[in-house]
Amino acid sequence: MAKIIAIANQKGGVGKTTTAVNLAAGVALLGNRVLLVDMDPQGNATSGLGIDPRSLQTTVYNCLINYVKFHDAVQVTEVNGLSLLPANADLSGAEIELVNVEEREKLLRHFLRDVDKLFDVIFLDCPPTLGILTVNALVAARGVLVPVQCEYYAMEGLSRLVGNIDRVRQSFNPELQLEGIVLTMFDARNTLARQVSEQVRGYFKDVVYNTVIPRNVTLAEAPSYGRPAMLYNVASAGSQAYLSLAKEFVSHGEKSAR
Ligand code: ADP
Ligand code: MG
Repeated sequence: MAKIIAIANQKGGVGKTTTAVNLAAGVALLGNRVLLVDMDPQGNATSGLGIDPRSLQTTVYNCLINYVKFHDAVQVTEVNGLSLLPANADLSGAEIELVNVEEREKLLRHFLRDVDKLFDVIFLDCPPTLGILTVNALVAARGVLVPVQCEYYAMEGLSRLVGNIDRVRQSFNPELQLEGIVLTMFDARNTLARQVSEQVRGYFKDVVYNTVIPRNVTLAEAPSYGRPAMLYNVASAGSQAYLSLAKEFVSHGEKSAR
């Protein structure tokens, strides 16, 4: 059974998709079978892995709404062991189309039941909202990984997210856990960033990954080449940080399985 991890934060631009693409690639490069599900109508994880969202006829949207089979929607990627269930703008209709659908919070959970045995880890890249798509991801997942940018209000956003994780846990998914918090776009020269990082570590303790993702130009450039950072410039600080996060992620799993 795959470990299913939602990468979520209701704030946009904090590094969710960058983390989803590069952590998924890193975990695959460590020898795991990995699926990345793009749950954002913007399709940034899809284009970040070299697939033009506008060119697609079948995406995760059709899997959730039209009973399209996994094998008819999944895409292979350049990374050995990494598959992608892509998204495009079609998914933006889901919010409204699902209003009257029964058990609409559980569509992804039910869909992944048959897919689950094909992978070791499934990452879900969430949109920057707490709407039905993110709720579907939180209901399908066993853990939530939260990328946090160290800036004003980071703690406020985090406590709101933790509140929502609690609500989903109580209503739909008693197993849901806070898997980890990863500090992203970190600039050590910035005093505020250092203060916020200390605050987050002080409050969330061991839940925060030791690996910190620096602000790094390779991470910003790689998506325009449709590649994870490691396949664009493996020596960069950004690639190395995500490889180190991947190792930490995998070893967390080993610890909790014992
Ligand atoms: P989200 O998915 O949370 O909206 P993204 O991962 O798309 O956030 O990141 C927002 C923007 O910041 C993107 O343009 C991305 O390339 C850039 N970015 C993300 N992480 C880094 C980083 N560590 N260093 C430099 N740029 C980054
Ligand atoms: Mg995103």
